[in-house]
Amino acid sequence: MPGFELFGDAERKEVNDVLHTGVLMRYGFDGMRNGNWKAKELELELQNSFKAEYVQLVSSGTAAVSVALASAGVGAGDEVIMPTFTFVASFEAIMMLGAIPVLVDIDDTLTLSPEAVEKAITPKTKAIMVVQMCGSMGRMSDLLNISRRHNLLLIEDACQAIGGTYKGKPLGSVGDLGCFSFDFVKTITCGEGGAVITNNKAYYTNADHYSDHGHDHVGNDRGAESHPFLGYNFRISELHAAVGLAQVKRLNEFLAIQKKNYTILRDALSKIPEVTFRTVPEGGEESYAFLNFFLPDLEIARKVSQKFKDHGIDACFHYYDNNWHYIRKWEHLKDLKSLFPISDEVRKGMEYLQTKEYPQSDHFIGRNISSLIKLSWTEETVRNRAEKMVGIIQESL
Ligand SMILES: *Cc1c(COP(=O)(O)O)cnc(C)c1O
Repeated sequence: MPGFELFGDAERKEVNDVLHTGVLMRYGFDGMRNGNWKAKELELELQNSFKAEYVQLVSSGTAAVSVALASAGVGAGDEVIMPTFTFVASFEAIMMLGAIPVLVDIDDTLTLSPEAVEKAITPKTKAIMVVQMCGSMGRMSDLLNISRRHNLLLIEDACQAIGGTYKGKPLGSVGDLGCFSFDFVKTITCGEGGAVITNNKAYYTNADHYSDHGHDHVGNDRGAESHPFLGYNFRISELHAAVGLAQVKRLNEFLAIQKKNYTILRDALSKIPEVTFRTVPEGGEESYAFLNFFLPDLEIARKVSQKFKDHGIDACFHYYDNNWHYIRKWEHLKDLKSLFPISDEVRKGMEYLQTKEYPQSDHFIGRNISSLIKLSWTEETVRNRAEKMVGIIQESL
């Protein structure tokens, strides 16, 4: 996945364009910037790549999720349904707006179970947030259907699945708003950065203003701009956008490498009858950023994960025992450890986390191992890795 592995001359060239003029900010300074508008250019590239009418770059993927929710009017006391398996950014972004994260079970797609979503809907629910984890996607037809039937927003966090598709549509463009991260370890990196995509003009205009202190971006005198509503600063810098611009042009090259490496690993593991793979919904194609497979039970998964570590098989994650991606270890969330007071409404809305259990999520995450697919591996490296992984799994069964 990480685009940084192939950082090179193309990225340096774009950054040098910016360094040459010294205009590090994406807005204004028209006379000094010598025609360089890296953030705008990157937005255009993303618009084309993602068949989206509107793209707003922001400072991170976490900011993208918050900006997407805020732009669609989600805020204090609203409930947002999200999966138990995701990155911590999901609930951070929701809680930043004073909204309430409602965590529900995942299924064999490794994201939202449509049944669990439907059961969690209350009169306070405003949005469903599907997180397209590890290069693949949820049951998008079912989730779209539920969101339409209940008049809820469908937000797609596609931070880990850039380049994947569902029925020919790029992931991120299926729901009402899609979010991407370009942090240092994502398939496309800016160093730090993110994007919101949408076909809804009002949401886009909101995102454009909200991510820059509410500026309406009318005219070319920043000081004279008006502020139709309150905003924040989630701007991306020109330097970051420049790196992303070089990287996004290489997306197809990166995806082809991922697919090639993924296929070698998957073919090898497929020969073990006890190994099964995460379900990709019909009509879906992964981005191949990760290969996810299931072992027969938790004990075997733990054993295999440990042996992978002992034998130098890096970048394999057993998320059940990992601090960052699964609810089991999110004590700070369950205990609402916050530096500042949290509203009574959110406190009360999140009491369920003290006691709620997620046996279905445990069933899938406990048995799942996820191998990152690197861009820098040679074919020989992947084949050696595959052989070692197969040997370790077979002796652990
Ligand atoms: C990386 C990631 C984010 C957050 O992105 P940052 O740019 O690091 O803030 C959000 N959601 C998912 C699923 C991610 O993997």
